[in-house]
Amino acid sequence: MSETLFINVEVIDGAAKPAFSGQVLVKGNRIAEVARDGAAIDAPEAHVVDGGGATLMPGMTDAHAHLSFLDAATLGDLTNLTPERLVLETAKNARKMLDHGFTSMFSGSSARDNTDIAIRDAINAGDIPGPRLLAATRQMTVSGGFGDIGKEDAYSLVLNGPEEFRNASREAARRGVDIFKIVPSAPGSGKDVLAEDTAMTDAEVAAVCEVAHQRNRRVAAHARSAEAVKMCVGNGVQMIYHATLADEEAKDMLEARKDSVFVAPAMGLPYGRLKEGESYGVSTDDYTRARAEKEIETVSVNMAELKSRGVRVLPGGDYGFKWNPHGRNARDLFMFVDLFGFSPLEAIRAATAHGGELMGMRGELGLVAKGAFADLLLVDGDPVKDIQILQDRDRFLAIMKNGDFHKPLTANRTQAQVAAE
Ligand SMILES: [Zn+2]
Repeated sequence: MSETLFINVEVIDGAAKPAFSGQVLVKGNRIAEVARDGAAIDAPEAHVVDGGGATLMPGMTDAHAHLSFLDAATLGDLTNLTPERLVLETAKNARKMLDHGFTSMFSGSSARDNTDIAIRDAINAGDIPGPRLLAATRQMTVSGGFGDIGKEDAYSLVLNGPEEFRNASREAARRGVDIFKIVPSAPGSGKDVLAEDTAMTDAEVAAVCEVAHQRNRRVAAHARSAEAVKMCVGNGVQMIYHATLADEEAKDMLEARKDSVFVAPAMGLPYGRLKEGESYGVSTDDYTRARAEKEIETVSVNMAELKSRGVRVLPGGDYGFKWNPHGRNARDLFMFVDLFGFSPLEAIRAATAHGGELMGMRGELGLVAKGAFADLLLVDGDPVKDIQILQDRDRFLAIMKNGDFHKPLTANRTQAQVAAE
């Protein structure tokens, strides 16, 4: 069994405890030992990685990923490519996520039925590099709902009535998806529909949740209206995206189910449009700008409150659009600190320990702890002092997933520098 010993590292454990100087031993694909306070680990056969004082932290999870969205300018562009070409392009994004320190992705929908599944299976077989991936369906919507663009070959699957939702969920389970993605409420942009609008019925949501329960799958919902949030939480949806207009009753329901539900505000699109749109050549009219500003303001208040109530709020922000491209994902952690009042350690916990729980591996993923899977990042600098460094892939001196180096540490100090220390 291969052994790697990290020495001379500042450990951020993922559980939001203060960092400490220590050593970490990896055996095979798990963390075998963690030492602190100057204690040394005895591992004569291990390959030693001298961190030189760098930070060692768990790999990050993106809770709302669209690996098969190819940094598209419009939603209609999502299925411009043939399925074959789409898979190849999506494989590039999978690698890119690892390059940027994301070792787990929870999919917020696949552009085509089998894209996520094919990529997940290829990653798990070791054929292509990529994060741990839970694969989703296309988003399931209703006639006239969010994503119904009036053509069959689209990024959404249009269904009506509980029978159609039930059948589609069963069929998706047969094909091997992990996550049923539903869209019970309206998008965040567009002038003809409002965030307050709710499109799916309780019976439709219940039908999807029933199949998920029977087949041991997860349900993720784009739920912006208070009514949609309540309908989803009441039916046992595990992942609530956006929760933009969650009212007191909705927040009470989320708090009551805080051990089984997750929230991801997924603000990458409005935030990216406002702050970085112009640099990507995307112009924004006054109406859309005002709407994005309002969205950020409302969500910021709600997420701060949900965190204070003990609800797990996770990063993951709809990356995969022209003004919100893949690779920018760690900007979400900065938003958590800058807008929602998370401490840097709390933002890192959301992306790591809570991410591991979302992936269904509570206590085994997203932690630097004995027995956890060895998904590790060696970071040049201290993300507690500056959370923004996690957005710079060059800061990742080494990236390990499941005990294997995706990016090994290359010699970065001269003999003279080492001798001078
Ligand atoms: Zn999304």
